[in-house]
Parts: sequence; structure tokens; C-alpha cells
Amino acid sequence: MSTDSTLLAVRWAQVRGRVDDACRAAGRDPAAVSILPVSKTFDAGVIRAATTLGLRRFGENKVQEIRDKSPLLADCDIRWVLIGHLQTNKAKEVARLVDEVQSLDRLELAEVLHRRLQQEGRAIDVLVQVKTSSEESKFGLPPAQLPALLDALRHFDTLRVRGLMTLATQSTDAAVVRGCFRRLRELRDEALAQGHALPRLSMGMSGDFALAIAEGATEVRIGSAIFGGRAAPQSA
Ligand SMILES: *Cc1c(COP(=O)(O)O)cnc(C)c1O
Repeated sequence: MSTDSTLLAVRWAQVRGRVDDACRAAGRDPAAVSILPVSKTFDAGVIRAATTLGLRRFGENKVQEIRDKSPLLADCDIRWVLIGHLQTNKAKEVARLVDEVQSLDRLELAEVLHRRLQQEGRAIDVLVQVKTSSEESKFGLPPAQLPALLDALRHFDTLRVRGLMTLATQSTDAAVVRGCFRRLRELRDEALAQGHALPRLSMGMSGDFALAIAEGATEVRIGSAIFGGRAAPQSA
């Protein structure tokens, strides 16, 4: 194993350990929280090394990166998960390359994705990204619009709606960050009462996953804590 692979193995084990600790601190079963490794900005070689640790699902925030990396990793049985803002003009590539979209945030996008997926003869899992922060720049569906979108999504049999996703406000105030995660869980509970089964809550990143786990995350999206720092800050 190269030094890089060794470092990756160490970091992966550390992150899994910290996630397990956060679960126990919250009185939750560690088996109930999975980790989505976020490989954005890291090249195919790094992802290949990660597959030797048994990792198969990788989160990316740009379709372009999936398009560039996937041919180099065609032998690795990877499931690509899109976690970044998606423009409708990329739907065709998403339908071809992506196994799951966590950033579905509007009906228009669902309509276009559905049409493209029908053409490909595929169905994918999706999470609805909800805006739980007060920041203007963040993407995501306004919470008030969630019931209507969930009802509309029932008509698209290529989109299997499995849960909700959010990004918390970037804040050093843990109460503010935790409030975003709590809001997502409450929205999930309200949707459940309206007959929508949404078992998955994707929330929490390298810097805030313990708070997300305390509020019921079923998966945390971890980039830098596994792969190291990125050269430039990435927009979500
Ligand atoms: C980059 C990114 C992450 C991971 O962020 P880290 O701080 O590196 O763990 C999680 N979710 C989304 C949507 C991202 O864009």
C-alpha cells in the first residue's frame, strides 16, 4: 500500500470511530448511521485507493467531475451520489451516470430528470434537499413547499424518494447549527404524518456531524476528514 492509501485507511478508521462515538453519545446504534465519503476535487486515483477500503458510494457536487472520473473507475463498481446543486441542462448526464441525487430541490428538475431516466430505462433514489438555514446563498427547497413537492413526486416512478437532505448554516454557534438539523427531522416527521415514508436523513459534514447525529441523521457526508483539505473552498 502506498503512503496515500495508508493515510486514507487511518483517516477512514478515525472518522468511523468518531461517528460511532457520536452515535453512542446520542444513545443511538452506530449501525443506524452510514458515512457517505465526499470525494469532490480529489482525483480518480484517490477514489480508487478508497475502494480498496471497501467504499463504494462516493458523493460529488458537480456532474462534470463524475463525468471526468467515472470512465477512469469503470472497473470499480462505484455508485455516484450527487450532492451539489443541479442544473436541468445536466439531467441527461445524471440519468446516465448518477446512482442517487440528494440535491433534488424543485419540481422542474424532477420533471426533466424523470423524462431522461425514462429514456435510459433507469430509476434512482433521491433525497429532497431542504433549506433549513437562513443564509440567502444556500440552495434547497423552502420548507413550506415540501408537502406539495412530496405529493407531486409520487407521480414520477423513476424517482424513488427516500428522505431529506440539508446543509446547516455555517456558524460557530452549535445551537444554530443543531437547530437546522432539528428542523429537517421535524419536517421528516410531519411528512411521515402525511403518509410519506422518508427513512433517510442526510445531514452533517466533517465539521458538524456529531450535532447532526444527535438530531437523527441516518447518514453523514464526510469529505475533508477522510480525504484531507481541499485546495479551494467548494460551493455547495
Ligand atoms: C463538500 C460537501 C460535503 C463535505 O464537506 P466536508 O466539510 O469536507 O466534510 C458535504 N455535503 C455537501 C453538500 C458538500 O458539498
